[in-house]
Amino acid sequence: MGKVTGFLEFERLEEGYEPVEQRLKSYKEFVIGLTPAEAKIQGARCMDCGTPFCNNGCPVNNIIPDFNDLVYKQDWQNAITVLHSTNNFPEFTGRICPAPCEAACVINVNGDAVGIKSIEHAIIDKAWAEGWVQPQPAAVKTGKKVAIVGGGPAGLAAAQQLARAGHDVTVFEKNDKVGGLLRYGIPDFKMDKSHIDRRMAQLAAEGVVFRTNVVVGEWPQGSKVTNWAKEQVSAESLKAEFDAIVLTGGSEQSRDLPVPGRDLAGIHFAMELLPQQNRVNHGGQVENAISATGKHVIVIGGGDTGSDCVGTSNRHGALSVTQFEVMPQPPVEENRPLTWPYWPMKLRTSSSHEEGCVREFAISTKEFIGENGKVTGLKTVRVEFKDGKLVEVPGSEQDYKADLVLLAMGFVNPVASVLESFGVSKDARGNAKATTEAEGGYKTNVAKVFTAGDMRRGQSLVVWAIREGRQAARAVDEFLMGATSLPR
Ligand code: SF4
Repeated sequence: MGKVTGFLEFERLEEGYEPVEQRLKSYKEFVIGLTPAEAKIQGARCMDCGTPFCNNGCPVNNIIPDFNDLVYKQDWQNAITVLHSTNNFPEFTGRICPAPCEAACVINVNGDAVGIKSIEHAIIDKAWAEGWVQPQPAAVKTGKKVAIVGGGPAGLAAAQQLARAGHDVTVFEKNDKVGGLLRYGIPDFKMDKSHIDRRMAQLAAEGVVFRTNVVVGEWPQGSKVTNWAKEQVSAESLKAEFDAIVLTGGSEQSRDLPVPGRDLAGIHFAMELLPQQNRVNHGGQVENAISATGKHVIVIGGGDTGSDCVGTSNRHGALSVTQFEVMPQPPVEENRPLTWPYWPMKLRTSSSHEEGCVREFAISTKEFIGENGKVTGLKTVRVEFKDGKLVEVPGSEQDYKADLVLLAMGFVNPVASVLESFGVSKDARGNAKATTEAEGGYKTNVAKVFTAGDMRRGQSLVVWAIREGRQAARAVDEFLMGATSLPR
């Protein structure tokens, strides 16, 4: 703790954004990171707590007080070493993580936690700019072969850790590029895809082989994947060729809204709009692309994916954008208690909201209405909690106009075909069933087949996927070698 009184002297400083009118003209990142001088002052606000709750609040257990102090001392090279010791991809989390570490920070009394995420962002961007992020190929190879099925953040973290342990790692990805939700779900304006490409080059230099456009197991019927994948590899052939397999296919089955009128044209899942936009941004061709231009758009789902639809619709030039959330509006007043089931968390405002969006809370869609087979609106009703249950408010019915409806209500489970191809048991929610970390970790019921990330834990944060990938890598390394020295 270089500055004992830092948290008393300095205020929290937020990262800046480009003005709305400027950023709406493109799909480019618009966050303006802290300068080294600003990051130094923010690092000085850390109290280096004896019990650093931030460390426990961070899913990868980043050693936050240490890198805060190193940034305060402007020792950036050691700061990135500390950050990389627990997190393979801080440029991803430094941009899109909702920072549970900050919620856990001891000085987070009125939203003035240490700006851990902005400091992380500053460290990794400086490290890349200075050329400090270099491949770390294993000094000794083991001769063991590991297949990773799914190139999202869990798969990539597992791949990097296992390659650094000396194993020959191949990542199988059904899309044309790896990255999973980071590549196709997160809009470019939140995270540019060059960050993934740069990491892929590092992983490739460490020996990881990427096989894209390849479906492993049964072809998922009706899935959009058939538009992109060109090759199929059976589960049996993978089992025969590899010493261990890690299934990291994510949780891709979108939650639907089966109310009357659902089959009208103009109602799409968020994960139809967002991937197509990212493909177009990078020169891809998309037939029958969804367009929000000149339309009244309603986004159903108040989470991050919904907000990404808001930002994308506004960049298309939507006439209006309205976002529905079934839960009541969380309190905005400071110190008002947050109690489940009413307000599980404080009101989160995305940068997309200030770009133009009406937010409606405690609202449920009862029916889609349309003309000539196309959606023209929604019939809704207000809801409230009574005896712990959400019930309709009598007489609160209201119609909304909409030419485009985007469903962003989360993901229910993984696409089942991969798990079924391998004979992997599922839990009650349809996720891959595996042993817990306490039980030896991430092993499925099938010999030498492991699983991690959203495919195992259900939809979650990118930082949890990175953690799961790292921990699964330890389990695989121990399985192959009898012991592991990979870090947690
Ligand atoms: Fe610093 Fe907050 Fe972590 Fe304490 S809890 S060590 S103040 S970042």
